[in-house]
Amino acid sequence: MDIERLKTLVISEVESHRGELYDLGHKIHDNPELGFQEKQAVNWLSGFLADNGFTIERGIYGLETAFRASYGRGRPVIALLAEYDALPEMGHACGHNLIGTASAGGAVGARPAVDECGGKIVVIGTPAEELYGGKCTMAQRGAFADLDAAMMVHPGHHNTVVTEALACQGLNVEFFGKASHAAGRPEAGINALEAMILSFNSIDALRQHIKSKARIHGIITDGGQAPNVVPAHSAGSFLVRAPDEAYLDELKEKVLNCFKGAAQATGARLEFKWDELSYSPVLNNLTLGRLFMQNMNRIGRKTRMVDPSQSFGSTDFGNVSQLVPGIHASVSITSRQDAATHSPQFAEAAASEKGLQAMMDAATAMGMTAADLLADSEVLVKVKTEFFQHK
Ligand SMILES: [Zn+2]
Ligand SMILES: [Zn+2]
Repeated sequence: MDIERLKTLVISEVESHRGELYDLGHKIHDNPELGFQEKQAVNWLSGFLADNGFTIERGIYGLETAFRASYGRGRPVIALLAEYDALPEMGHACGHNLIGTASAGGAVGARPAVDECGGKIVVIGTPAEELYGGKCTMAQRGAFADLDAAMMVHPGHHNTVVTEALACQGLNVEFFGKASHAAGRPEAGINALEAMILSFNSIDALRQHIKSKARIHGIITDGGQAPNVVPAHSAGSFLVRAPDEAYLDELKEKVLNCFKGAAQATGARLEFKWDELSYSPVLNNLTLGRLFMQNMNRIGRKTRMVDPSQSFGSTDFGNVSQLVPGIHASVSITSRQDAATHSPQFAEAAASEKGLQAMMDAATAMGMTAADLLADSEVLVKVKTEFFQHK
């Protein structure tokens, strides 16, 4: 098997679809749809894949806007993950229009490798990354169980392979106190808002003594109705994040103690509920990552494994990466300092020439990396060996 010849075929295959891929990237960008409502994006992406010989299953795992597009048969099964949801008010300010398009383009580009080597390339359409962590639900329901490797590329500010993402779980809290006239009969009231404020202060005190990459942040969603009434009810929504799952469990207990202490101090009754889904940290497969990096460099996009200035949040790809060897790479779509992700400037970059060219490069490098895995079973063995060493 001449892998270099195969990669040349992948490069020209992706290039031959440049017009359609630009069109997809623009159409999804111009018609932003929120999580679990991405019907048009799914129509367009799966339509493009069907036109290129992929078999499409839609509405999979109980999610209307999840899909799977497959080409080829047997093993291995290499997956490119597509996202296509937008943000409220801001449209494609996270550039997911480019993620879906890059994965669709990369899968079509990998067809010559599937034709020659066997195995399967699949695109898995994963809805609602931003608002509901769609991949967490899909992972729980077995959507990634039969995969040998999974890749995706997220638009950003650097060309890098490694994503540092934290384990994360949401917490909803309510305090129940007792209403009373705030001036006339303050002694008869139990102040649910004070319980919430005290909780914030306790968390602030705790924050001094937690690991440097851990994060705790929240908002008050109900703080009372009128200043002359002792608030009988307060509510808040919080996120607790940690570099690994063991520390997340430890931190969750400490955070909960802040609320319990505030309940004790004020006499308000506490009710709380942790989100059913939690985000896992990303397990980066460096063997797979190095292949992707070499392919990016070969097509002229200088890519590094790690960027020292990389920031970290959480992504539902974390849950996928705990099940399947995978990478969640970044591709630069803007060098503007003011164009942070989730800003209007970033939304603009996601439809720019620089953004669309980055999408093309991501598609090509993912297609080439799929070819690496399909053409040489030894390569896949190395990828899997690393994965199981870290599990
Ligand atoms: Zn985002
Ligand atoms: Zn995103």
